[in-house]
Amino acid sequence: MTKSMNKRTQMVHGGTRRSQYNEVSEAIFLTQGFVYDTAEQAEARFLKTGEDEFIYARYGNPTVAMFEERIALLEGAEDAFATASGMAAINGALCSALKAGDHVVAARALFGSCLYILQDILGRYGVEVTLIDGTDLDQWRDAVRPDTKLCFFETISNPTLEVIDVKAVSEIAHAVGALVMVDNVFATPVYSRALELGADVVIYSATKHIDGQGRTLGGVILGTREFIRGTVEPYMKHTGGSMSPFTAWVMLKGLETIDLRVRAQVDTAEKIADAVQGHAGLNRAIYPGHASHPQFDLVQDQIGTGGTVLALDIKGGQAAAFQFLNALTVALISNNLGDAKSIATHPATTTHQRLPEEQKRALGITPGLIRFSVGLEHADDLINDILHALSRVKE
Ligand SMILES: *Cc1c(COP(=O)(O)O)cnc(C)c1O
Repeated sequence: MTKSMNKRTQMVHGGTRRSQYNEVSEAIFLTQGFVYDTAEQAEARFLKTGEDEFIYARYGNPTVAMFEERIALLEGAEDAFATASGMAAINGALCSALKAGDHVVAARALFGSCLYILQDILGRYGVEVTLIDGTDLDQWRDAVRPDTKLCFFETISNPTLEVIDVKAVSEIAHAVGALVMVDNVFATPVYSRALELGADVVIYSATKHIDGQGRTLGGVILGTREFIRGTVEPYMKHTGGSMSPFTAWVMLKGLETIDLRVRAQVDTAEKIADAVQGHAGLNRAIYPGHASHPQFDLVQDQIGTGGTVLALDIKGGQAAAFQFLNALTVALISNNLGDAKSIATHPATTTHQRLPEEQKRALGITPGLIRFSVGLEHADDLINDILHALSRVKE
């Protein structure tokens, strides 16, 4: 598969390994193990696995290897490790890279489970974590130290869609020799330029746009071959967070259409952002791809799109937000994102419910905030759905 071809072409053909039957669609190797012809061959394989040689599904599997190769092509990374979920990827990438005594600097605006790993788990094992406002470069400069091993952030944060300058933070981190690890779900693998901008490790919850149809949980860690095979793989294969072959097959099929799907979702998100901007029922409509976003220039420069998620801060607090949600007829009330089906979420009472009020306020998670993940429905139907639901909110 030539790397000079367009990503859309690579996502249809890249990484394919055909069996002796020459099947068109990728095979699902639903096998935990692999047979050796001789005892000597088994011994040799445990000593060193060659290309296309496998031992046990927790260590690797042909379908999973196809997915890893294909997603690495999309990201422009040397290698990838597929995991059971997005959180298995984040936990694996962090724990495999860190040890007691290390210092981590992370942006405060993070997915709840990422905050749990950073604040609760890593501390138990002697890793010190400093949380900062990731949009303020001075805070990164002040927080990094000679013993800082790693800087971690979401390139676009959930759910308030703040954007972090990957290039500038990477320069600050690299100046003290720290590794830059990004949770890149909201930027999406289609638009990501994180490695080119200086990040060392890029992580996705494949549950989101990579599957894109709400079927399976999965995750992936991308980086240099040395980091993926030398640091991540030994940790993951011995601790059990590997992706199942069936999931890898679903994700491979997801990659065939990801370019078409995500571009269509972004296109619709832009139309919705235009349609709701300045609406009398909203305190704010947040979309990183709209000129009203405070970091619009940074977004244009580093991602080139605002992604597939908007945040709407509805006037009237929680009661108004609930009236809005209950009046939607196309978008579903749920908590995934990047799905073919549009999904609306009330972060303050669901995904971010457990955060103390003070932390919610600091992150901009107001009682009226709705996270709206744009699906593959027609833009006009979604705009009508949102405008109608806004009209149903009682003053
Ligand atoms: C969903 C999500 C995760 C967790 O992924 P799972 O697949 O649910 O484990 C982590 N980070 C971000 C930004 C997410 O959106």
